[in-house]
Amino acid sequence: MRVIVIGSGIAGAATAHQLARRGADVVVVDAGHAGVATEAGAGIVCPWTGRRDDEEYRLAAASAAYYPDLVAQLAEDGVGESSFEVIGGMVVSADDALLDGVQRRVTGRAEAEPAAGAVSRLDPAQARELFPALAPDLGAVHVSGGGRVDGRRLRRALLDAAVTRGARIVHGVARLTPRGARVGDEDLAADRIVVAAGAWTGELLPAVPVAPQRGQIGHFELPGTDTARWPVVMPASSHYLLAFPGSRVVAGATRETGSGFDYRVTAAGQREVLDHALAVAPGLAEATLVETRVGFRPASPDGLPLLGALDDRPDVLVATGFGPGGLTQAPLAARFVACLALGEEVSADLTPYRPERFTGR
Ligand SMILES: Cc1cc2nc3c(=O)[nH]c(=O)nc-3n(C[C@H](O)[C@H](O)[C@H](O)COP(=O)(O)OP(=O)(O)OC[C@H]3O[C@@H](n4cnc5c(N)ncnc54)[C@H](O)[C@@H]3O)c2cc1C
Repeated sequence: MRVIVIGSGIAGAATAHQLARRGADVVVVDAGHAGVATEAGAGIVCPWTGRRDDEEYRLAAASAAYYPDLVAQLAEDGVGESSFEVIGGMVVSADDALLDGVQRRVTGRAEAEPAAGAVSRLDPAQARELFPALAPDLGAVHVSGGGRVDGRRLRRALLDAAVTRGARIVHGVARLTPRGARVGDEDLAADRIVVAAGAWTGELLPAVPVAPQRGQIGHFELPGTDTARWPVVMPASSHYLLAFPGSRVVAGATRETGSGFDYRVTAAGQREVLDHALAVAPGLAEATLVETRVGFRPASPDGLPLLGALDDRPDVLVATGFGPGGLTQAPLAARFVACLALGEEVSADLTPYRPERFTGR
């Protein structure tokens, strides 16, 4: 079966990989837009600490648990470098009562989700031992299963593995046609088309309500400091910190609803990122601000992804709407969409993610 995948962020790359592993003849098309969310994403994979307790959490938790399996699949396909690592995560606060509540919630979840690992309480000194740049008054709830991934490297790994399995990559802007897609002068015919065009999905499918939400995220360097094993830090806000090998610390991010595709680092965005980062981790004051990345999260109206076939074009499937959680949710969601495209059974009820749930049909 010939399948065209439009978009090669994590959603498209992971779908293409799963399709190719299942023997499909896959063509991936990517426009190379500025502001690809996967290229800017922080890379936190730690759903058990989140406040939502709905389908979004269930998909995120199942996908986080699936990551080691994905890493093994990539290795099987000759790609040893996924970048995914379990390094632990900490919810930090100076408010003990708040941490009590977090600890209860996360402990309950960890009992049902072995991938979350062990949940423990850390006093401020213990928290700073793990993340030395932290403010001295912040205690923590630590979750040992917390992970991180470098979206750029994972995307590359998924595409390399898909190509190893026979996928072809085409560069250009795709438009849907009645029997496939058009890219420049080339008409591509296919049995199925998967639209994984992130925040740009509306340009292909105006009825699918996904909007760009800009995120600005700072990358810092702490020369001479080994940050490779520092855990993810999540204060009681939408901001966070995480570290990567190479003395790199990442702090983010703005959530700018209504931004459109305005690909810029703004003064207010930069200030917001710096204010939050330095309040939580004053130890970053002397760090080098290396770059600020900008990405457009594909935001859906209810915060749940859009997964599955369109009612009036069953040959067109959608894999998007991952908002702020796509690096966590998309690997498993992509597997579901690949199975749907090939007519295989899916091990989950995807009704809550129906792409046309907002049309009232
Ligand atoms: C600052 C920031 C921090 C984040 N942090 C996290 C995090 O810590 N944890 C987490 O789980 N998630 C995080 N996310 C969310 C996550 O990055 C996104 O949900 C996810 O990357 C979305 O992936 P996607 O493939 O749907 O879209 P994208 O990565 O945006 O990819 C869409 C692709 O489609 C292509 N495209 C668009 N239109 C066309 C067309 N017509 N033809 C061909 N190609 C086309 C684009 O060029 C692009 O490559 C973060 C996002 C941002 C911006």
